[in-house]
Amino acid sequence: MSHLSEILSRVRPSATIAASTRAGELRAAGSDIVSLSAGEPDFDTPRFIIDAANEALLSGKTRYAPAGGIPELRDAVVRKFRRDNKISYERGNVAITCGAKQAIYNGLVASLNQGDEVIIPSPYWVSYPDMVTLAGGVPIIVDTSEDTGFLLSASALEGALSPRTRWLILNSPSNPSGSLYEHETLKELGELIAKHPKAGVISDEIYEHLVYGDRSFTSFVQACPHLLERTLIVNGVSKTFAMTGWRIGYAAGESGLIKGMTVVQSQSASSATTFCQWAAVAALDSDMSFFEPMRRAFDERRRFITTALNDIDGLSCALPEGAFYAFPSCADLIGRKKEDGKVIANDEDLTLYALESAGVAMVHGEAFGSPNHLRCSYACSLDNLREATARLKSAFGALV
Ligand code: PMP
Ligand code: GLU
Repeated sequence: MSHLSEILSRVRPSATIAASTRAGELRAAGSDIVSLSAGEPDFDTPRFIIDAANEALLSGKTRYAPAGGIPELRDAVVRKFRRDNKISYERGNVAITCGAKQAIYNGLVASLNQGDEVIIPSPYWVSYPDMVTLAGGVPIIVDTSEDTGFLLSASALEGALSPRTRWLILNSPSNPSGSLYEHETLKELGELIAKHPKAGVISDEIYEHLVYGDRSFTSFVQACPHLLERTLIVNGVSKTFAMTGWRIGYAAGESGLIKGMTVVQSQSASSATTFCQWAAVAALDSDMSFFEPMRRAFDERRRFITTALNDIDGLSCALPEGAFYAFPSCADLIGRKKEDGKVIANDEDLTLYALESAGVAMVHGEAFGSPNHLRCSYACSLDNLREATARLKSAFGALV
């Protein structure tokens, strides 16, 4: 019999990881699966980054790194913020972590006291509420609506803020909705945060470069420079540089918090993998010439999948502005019956049906706090998207 912690009974496994693992297992067992579940670029890591990792390995960069990260990478992160976001940090404001995911986790563990509240607008990236719970905090979920582009409004934030609020977690561009916050909206949200001295913002900017059309990205700190010390920016190389498996992320914020996060790191993972950190220096210092073709490919897929999903009876999908996910509503399909007479009771049933009857893997919206939606990653080839949406059209068309 396992004796697990009480806190674990309130934490769910990551639904995104579960869905991609399941798709992989079914495929390995011989099933014909098209996966729209994985939140990772299908591109290979650029060659110059692999060369930098090889060089690091061959030159003996194989030992422990400092818990906060190698100084060279922390400095490259400082340069990145100056160049891309016009934000001035020092090395002491930067911590290197095992992926952006661990940057968020370490930030929460280092800053939350029992019962501190963390405001999370839904739909949210699956891991935020569970990470808050694991760190002893209380997630306060604030629903946003499709009509307002799934963006948190100032009035909704005002209603959720309390003396117990420690953080607001923002994610722009958003996983799963693809929405992007405007400079002005961030400013309004920041004005409310400023009124609560204990509150700050964790700004997850991991999709900053994946923005389409005429929209452009604004970092929370660019919109609210007065909140520089009260913001923890989280970012990483996973998405921009197609480096999901390398596990390198980073956070930038007030030096006391960064020190606290480094203590957490020193007592858990020790540090992010040393030679991967050297590869990340090459990535962050690069001229990014590899990136535009990748972004254009995502843009083409984005437009394709949105049109194709809207062409399926029962689905409706807004055009995402960033990241690489479409997040259609499937509300009209809930309550319909399968051929065997069984009712599709919710979005999870619908994803199971899509997987079993059409071999299409997606993640159900409820995992992101937004029932009656499906998350479809378009980080896969156009051929896959064509095949997946054709299969969904026929499978969903068979529901009565
Ligand atoms: N934030 C968001 C919004 C994400 O979608 C992801 C997904 N990978 C992460 C953080 C974590 O990224 P990683 O740990 O691979 O850097
Ligand atoms: N962030 C990606 C996703 O949402 C990768 C999986 C994960 O880290 O949860 O699918």
